[in-house]
Amino acid sequence: MIRITPAVRLSIGLIILVISILLLAQALGLTTGTEKQQFETRKQFAETLAAQISIAINRGDDSLLRDIMDAAVARNSEVQSAAIRTNDGDILIQTNQHADFWKGADPAKSTPTHMRFPLIINNIKRANFEVSFKALSGERHPLLHIPTFIVLIVFVSISGFFGFWLYIRRVLKHLDPSAVVPARVRNALNILAEGVLILDKREQIVLVNAGLLEKLNREEKNLIGKKASSLGWHLVEHQDAQELPWLTALSSNQKQVNVRVSLSRAEQPTKMFRVNAVPILDAKGLSQGTIVVFDDITELEEKTLLLEDMIKELAKSRIAIESKNKELSFLATRDPLTNCFNRRALYDYLEGKSVGSRKTDTDYACIMADIDHFKRVNDTYGHGVGDDVIKMMATTIKEVVREDDIVARMGGEEFCIILPNTPLDVAHSIAERCREKIWSKTTSGVKVTASFGVTSLALGAKDSTEIIHQADEALYSSKENGRNKVTSWSTEIVSKGG
Ligand code: GH3
Ligand code: MG
Ligand code: MG
Repeated sequence: MIRITPAVRLSIGLIILVISILLLAQALGLTTGTEKQQFETRKQFAETLAAQISIAINRGDDSLLRDIMDAAVARNSEVQSAAIRTNDGDILIQTNQHADFWKGADPAKSTPTHMRFPLIINNIKRANFEVSFKALSGERHPLLHIPTFIVLIVFVSISGFFGFWLYIRRVLKHLDPSAVVPARVRNALNILAEGVLILDKREQIVLVNAGLLEKLNREEKNLIGKKASSLGWHLVEHQDAQELPWLTALSSNQKQVNVRVSLSRAEQPTKMFRVNAVPILDAKGLSQGTIVVFDDITELEEKTLLLEDMIKELAKSRIAIESKNKELSFLATRDPLTNCFNRRALYDYLEGKSVGSRKTDTDYACIMADIDHFKRVNDTYGHGVGDDVIKMMATTIKEVVREDDIVARMGGEEFCIILPNTPLDVAHSIAERCREKIWSKTTSGVKVTASFGVTSLALGAKDSTEIIHQADEALYSSKENGRNKVTSWSTEIVSKGG
């Protein structure tokens, strides 16, 4: 079934025009060549006959005359009748009912149906030979038996229609479809920075604005009439859209917004677009095409990727900085020789600042320890051995105390131990264990002893200085009393030592 497309409509118009021209030609007698020919043939036939009849009359051969006339009527199907009429109007000889067939004949001249020729006998015109022919029929088709002119009209109508239809359909395709967009609309679209495509309902490109041509690096004449999806678009993954947005707009008549689409072509950098497609609907709400707007986000996308990379790098360096900070804060609070807390870290703790992850406790015991006659070790065995002995002292204390307890090197071979939530007597026995263990060990062939002073917050110290002072006083007491001893602080030892 042929749809009434513009091509069909144009073809019908053209074929009506051609048939009108043919009919006009017919009316003007331009196509009657065959009738003229027929007339001439009839005339020649009748003239020849008249000549033969004249000869027969001159010879006086009546039977020949009759034969000629009979034969003329019998052999020529177009001849209806023939007769010889005297100048007076009397019929001498006739075939068929000549008088009937001759009715209505023009008395003045021969016509295609009624022909009259004078018969000259002995140089005098004595009579006329009359032949009546059937009406002129024109030419008839040998198979269809209808006038060829009708056959011609029908043939031209049918073949002409299909010929025109095929040709126009082709021509319309090659005609510039962009001509359907008025120039001022086109100019307005060309001003836009965004790329604009107008597609017909078959997705064929009708218009590409200057903005998009520049982005695609193509010429409009190479794009018009092409299907938009044939240009190398790819739908960016991980979004709701399942197909190119203009295809959805055409099939669903729904506006499509913010669909990300990339365009990659050989030897051209990949471009990234954010695309909106709005359907063009007619009065009945049927799709006539779509307007597609392309926002070039290539640069934005590149910057986003760059930014993502930078954020990743930043996160990495933040982790590095954090671990460096941890390292630094560890180093800042430690004594490099023994890995114990240093003096500053200990005071921080005692003054309520947290040390590492440790918070200051509200109750603790404090032990001060010092190696006995350490100068001699240094003097006798050298500083290297002295250092080994200091390390041994730190290790031994750590072996005895709990993991949560704080062991700090105060300087030289002097250590301070904080035992959170530990009663004085328990702290005293811990110090005892340290003393015994140190005494039992031999380091690089050297045996040493150490003295201890023990106190507790519970004994009334008001601040860090006071508690350290109490522990120092107890230590001093141990030294005074012969070394290798543990002394707990009390007001008595103060009065004794003082
Ligand atoms: P006392 O029994 O009275 O404590 O006698 P002492 O000889 O141990 O006296 P003191 O505690 O005053 O001696 C400290 C010595 O420790 C002085 C110094 O040469 C030495 N010293 C200090 N720091 C270091 C160190 O880091 N390494 C070594 N090898 N020796 C140190
Ligand atoms: Mg000492
Ligand atoms: Mg000392």
